[in-house]
Amino acid sequence: ASRPEVQAVLHCHSIHATALACHGRDIPPFHYMTAVAGGHDIRCAPYATFGTQELSDGVVHALEGRLACLMAQHGQVAVGPTLDRALALAVEVETLARIYLQALALGEPPLLSAQQMEQVRHQFRTVLYGVATPASS
Ligand SMILES: [Zn+2]
Repeated sequence: ASRPEVQAVLHCHSIHATALACHGRDIPPFHYMTAVAGGHDIRCAPYATFGTQELSDGVVHALEGRLACLMAQHGQVAVGPTLDRALALAVEVETLARIYLQALALGEPPLLSAQQMEQVRHQFRTVLYGVATPASS
């Protein structure tokens, strides 16, 4: 209801995204594809009991300017104009979470700068037309 452009909401407990969410961790801009969710990072909403307004409020907040977020000790949410787009994004988030977990085995990976992520978002808008739509970072 807070996002009129959203026509589909996909929620799942995909393993790697949920593993990160169990640590309450955002996915930072460690890889350029993090921009696929519409910003520089993919936030993790705080834990709240499933089915509650508190959880919904936390997810809506974590989704501000984004098309996906993690949910602490729970899973992930991906949204989009269609269910196919939301599903494709959820798969991307799961892949990013898996890569991030692998990269963390060698310690915290270096992060891309805000300028580098803006360049990625520009490329998404011009080369991969329509991949990432939210405007804010
Ligand atoms: Zn759930």
